[in-house]
Amino acid sequence: MTTLPAAPPFALRARLLSPLADGGLLDERDGLLEVDASGRMVGVGPWSDAASASAVDVRPLVLMPGMVDLHAHLPQIPNAGLGSGLDLLTWLDRYIFPLERAYDRSVAERQAPAAFRAFAAAGTTTVVAYAALWPDSTDAAFAAAEEHGIRAVIGKVMMDRLTYDGDIEPGEILETSLRQSDALASRWHGAADGRLHYAFTPRFAVSCTEEMLRESALLAAHHGAYWQTHLSEDAGEVSEVRRLFPEARDYLDVYDRVGALGTRSILAHAIHLSEREVARLVESGSRVAHCPGSNLFLSSGMMPLGAYRAAGMSVGLGSDVAAGPEVSIFSVMRAGAVTQRVLELTGKGDSAGMLRPLDWIRLGSLDGARVLGLDADIGSLEVGKEADVIAIDPRFTNPLPTDDPPSAADDVASRLIFRPHPNMVRAAWVRGRLLDRG
Ligand SMILES: [Zn+2]
Repeated sequence: MTTLPAAPPFALRARLLSPLADGGLLDERDGLLEVDASGRMVGVGPWSDAASASAVDVRPLVLMPGMVDLHAHLPQIPNAGLGSGLDLLTWLDRYIFPLERAYDRSVAERQAPAAFRAFAAAGTTTVVAYAALWPDSTDAAFAAAEEHGIRAVIGKVMMDRLTYDGDIEPGEILETSLRQSDALASRWHGAADGRLHYAFTPRFAVSCTEEMLRESALLAAHHGAYWQTHLSEDAGEVSEVRRLFPEARDYLDVYDRVGALGTRSILAHAIHLSEREVARLVESGSRVAHCPGSNLFLSSGMMPLGAYRAAGMSVGLGSDVAAGPEVSIFSVMRAGAVTQRVLELTGKGDSAGMLRPLDWIRLGSLDGARVLGLDADIGSLEVGKEADVIAIDPRFTNPLPTDDPPSAADDVASRLIFRPHPNMVRAAWVRGRLLDRG
């Protein structure tokens, strides 16, 4: 295999496959991608003999935008694939809280670099992640992302009830958590020349008081940072929220009442919503991380994606490792496609939910970038954007190694989704800098 460039500037001759900002598709069978010294794409188009003598020929690799994972939990990854079918609150207690409690600085220093390599190996170049309750391990996770080169949004988990922190004084949890999160945001939001971002991260309504939710949203607004939490994932959780917040109209209203909704707010799951909640989510401009791999694994439910898209909701994809068993966004697409098929088979589907393979690719890349408000810089192969790019060898997805890969773009995408192979991603760059995938 030809050596792939480790740093910009460079030019690659390959097939180029990407959603486009205008809604169209780039499918350049014999294409040229040129990246300048600053890591931005300055040429995206057909190969020509006169174009670039120095271009590295990587055919038959396919260049695509890096995938955007809108929801993951760094401390939980070691337990991925364990506890299928448990209800959410039992699963958290049995498989997750012990891991998060143990996620101190030394564990984070060991695990976070490996986690970012795993994301890159799966083709993810932007990851939005929860750390644990501890500020020092969150700091270590940021340092690991800075060193690795991946684009990341990370936050220290905030919980002032139903917490696994047994040491702190109950009366001081709120104040301490806010102060620690504020300090982390001051240090890391916008770091690495804007490659790293902070997300204020109250876990969810079950483990946060109204004050925690309100104050964290105020801090997020103050920093211009993100605010992330979970919404309406599981029936048991929804009824617990109803019990804890009797004054709220519904689950979404818990967040709405404290001023937490808006275009910088990323809500994971959002499966069991009323029509009012769907309308209010759209109206407020809030963003949703759809995590179908997780939702099937924990039997949480099936998102009516077609209805949400028809309503104009801003949705992207999340692995939700470790409730999602796999880091790969391509695997998440498969789970999403299966979910929509099941809804169709049971008469609950919607034609808007029956996405073509290339639509799933768009959901996992450009739509994810839009959720983060970063689509001017990443999410597609277009001139002027930063070179967050992956190279895929479609031969790995062939049923038989002797076959040629399919030629139609939708067929190439279909194989990536329904036959993802752990080695199919041959390279991942952020700003033109090659990421370690080892
Ligand atoms: Zn989650």
